[in-house]
Amino acid sequence: MSGLTRLKWAGFLAYHTARERWIPFESESGVRALAERRMRGILRYATARIPYYQEVLRAAGLEPRDVRTLEDLARLPLLTKEELVGEPGLCSAPGRGEGLEIQSSGTSGRSRTIFHTGASLFLNLAGGYRMRAAMAPFTGRLRGCREALIVRRGSVHEQIRRFYAETGPRLPDGGTGGEFILPPAGDFREELRRLNEYQADVVRGYGSYLGAFYRWVYNTGAELARPKAVVYGADGMPDADRQLIEEGLRIPVFSVYQAVEALRIGYQCPLRQGLHVYADQVHVRVVDGQGRALTPPATGDLVISNLINPGTVLLNYKLGDVVTLSAEPCACGRSGLRILRIEGRNDDVVWRPDGAAIHALTLMAALQKFSGVVQVQVEQKRTDAFTLRVVPCAGQDWPSLARALGEAMRQVLGYAAEIEVQSVPSIPAGPNKKVRAVISHVQPPGAIRHDGRSGWVPDARLGARARRG
Ligand SMILES: [Zn+2]
Repeated sequence: MSGLTRLKWAGFLAYHTARERWIPFESESGVRALAERRMRGILRYATARIPYYQEVLRAAGLEPRDVRTLEDLARLPLLTKEELVGEPGLCSAPGRGEGLEIQSSGTSGRSRTIFHTGASLFLNLAGGYRMRAAMAPFTGRLRGCREALIVRRGSVHEQIRRFYAETGPRLPDGGTGGEFILPPAGDFREELRRLNEYQADVVRGYGSYLGAFYRWVYNTGAELARPKAVVYGADGMPDADRQLIEEGLRIPVFSVYQAVEALRIGYQCPLRQGLHVYADQVHVRVVDGQGRALTPPATGDLVISNLINPGTVLLNYKLGDVVTLSAEPCACGRSGLRILRIEGRNDDVVWRPDGAAIHALTLMAALQKFSGVVQVQVEQKRTDAFTLRVVPCAGQDWPSLARALGEAMRQVLGYAAEIEVQSVPSIPAGPNKKVRAVISHVQPPGAIRHDGRSGWVPDARLGARARRG
């Protein structure tokens, strides 16, 4: 990469990072003006270059100039994940220039490929400032935190980091004071040893995995070099685990809301009043089951419009999560909409006999690599008994596929278990309309009961048992 390109992105990054200081506190009309300017730019590009948008505007009887405000986006038809998976090039123009094609790592078995332009990626990097500023009261600093990431190899995070290192200014850590990546192997003892050795200020990773990990730390009483904050994204963290980390281990927990379709959607309010939306980068709204707009406060299907990525233009796109939106002003002074709750990101982990856990993504990476598999779900009935429900592709040699899947499962588990592999025509979605990749009936250590919807509910005795020190 030329020095000139690095210089260009260094300037871009410096400019946008400086703006990060005021954007969260800007008046709603100020942020709206920026968001609508970006929206009109994307729409102009899309209608000039992308047949899908040319057709939907024509079908709706709209000219690009008819879509002026964020509300006008609702006049476009809803775009679904199924459409995007079915036709990966649907929302991209050829010859997209500099950028990165990112493969999603979803557990639902439907991987998406989204092209992000350089500007989208560097705005994402600048946007990290907003999240770090919200965490600063807890970490004590805006820059220079040492971060440990528990993410799988080849994760979206790694793909993007590589792009920054190859293209951007010599600041590959995005303002952190160092980064340490640890794949979630399910060996909690070893992972704790390496985390303690690194002395991270912030530990980041998957909510379900970090929840299980810190539950294990708490229950075993293992020595812990306590980070200043734990941050999770990508999936949910059971409420009981969050309470245990905050009250039992006295580590503040933060969450971020990210997707491969819009790299930054929200970050947690420092006063715990939900997630503030990156309203200048992504427009969010909620709709009911018939696609009708709901006025906040409301719970419904999240519909996003990415305002900064012409690489894959996603306007009025149903992300597949059910969220609760609020338009109430926030006591922390940040403006705009807040996401109070996200449903449907609650895959369980698989619990091992030693109290450690295996994350859904680790299992899915092993089980979805077979070309004959359309979709797979793992149900853990006991610590050592599993059912794999598999939707195979047509014309598969089922007995040999089933054998291979059972073998792959045994390898990931690393201990003896009874594994039943079933061929099914489809996997029913749960109450939140999502297929869960992992369902576990094993009671995690320290929790008391499963409420059937959001997961294990807290042990009431937890507060009394909280460790001091
Ligand atoms: Zn707030």
